[in-house]
Amino acid sequence: MLDHVTFLNSLFDKGLLVETGVDGLYGRSGEFEEVIQRFDALVSRYGEADKAEVMRFPPAMSRSIFETSGYLKSFPQLAGTVHSFCGNDHDHAILLERVASGDDWTEGQKATDVVMTPAACYPLYPAMAKRGPLPEEGRLFDLQSYCFRHEPSKDPARMQLFRMREYVRAGTPEQVVAFRESWLERGQKLMGSLGVPLHIDVANDPFFGRAGRMMVAGQREQGLKFELLIPITSVEKPTACLSFNYHQDHFGSTWDIKTSIGAVAHTACVGFGLERVALALFKHHGLDTIKWPAAVRKELWG
Ligand code: AMP
Ligand code: ZN
Repeated sequence: MLDHVTFLNSLFDKGLLVETGVDGLYGRSGEFEEVIQRFDALVSRYGEADKAEVMRFPPAMSRSIFETSGYLKSFPQLAGTVHSFCGNDHDHAILLERVASGDDWTEGQKATDVVMTPAACYPLYPAMAKRGPLPEEGRLFDLQSYCFRHEPSKDPARMQLFRMREYVRAGTPEQVVAFRESWLERGQKLMGSLGVPLHIDVANDPFFGRAGRMMVAGQREQGLKFELLIPITSVEKPTACLSFNYHQDHFGSTWDIKTSIGAVAHTACVGFGLERVALALFKHHGLDTIKWPAAVRKELWG
């Protein structure tokens, strides 16, 4: 059996993850959730001194904001849209008939104004833009959201709905690059303190199609994305657990976010895949948190 399937089954057997019938969509036990909460709190301790502004969005966002953000240009394969029944009695009868006969009943569903959030920071940029130019010191936000990506898989580290904790910085290129540098350091220190093997590498987003290949090359050449990788379900292909993204002026120009002197703002974000980090800890320290190394327990439980 493939390593990731064996690991997934052991998580089900132990009750840490709960099957729902869909790959990449799982319930979680109290113990799994506690690890996520403790890790989330540890991230907050590392970021505390920066006094980020906390903001929380629901796991779905405005379709029009999503369209403007350009997500469909880069990642149409991952997007999740929310559709709903908008018909009359006659349409309802057809719908029920189709459900009963096992035919496709989704054909008549209409797109709503809502799509699933693909990354925690997407709803932030237009909200930030509404506040006008950035103050001289720029801005820093603390986000966490469930995110949806249509990438069904039996690899437990590749979920369709997962939580992403983020810090997002907006400001001058210097401010934003300094933020990313500092989190590259902190991220390694933080994960190192949890006793997991890790390394940093340059990375790319899964840009779609032929045009996407150019984007991948450009992103890698310019070093716009780094990942902190930890082997979870494969030693050869370790899993990205933290990401460090420099968007340059992409969101600043898309949403007209200006610095205090009227230049287009640059942005960067550091993202923590909360389920992936929990899975890395269960993989390396065992499926029983009580038996985890004392030093790791101390970091998380204090
Ligand atoms: P990205 O925007 O792709 O860099 O994602 C940010 C972080 O979210 C990554 O570093 C991962 O830890 C996490 N992540 C991305 N995709 C998934 C997924 N399918 N399942 C679980 N976590 C994910
Ligand atoms: Zn982000």
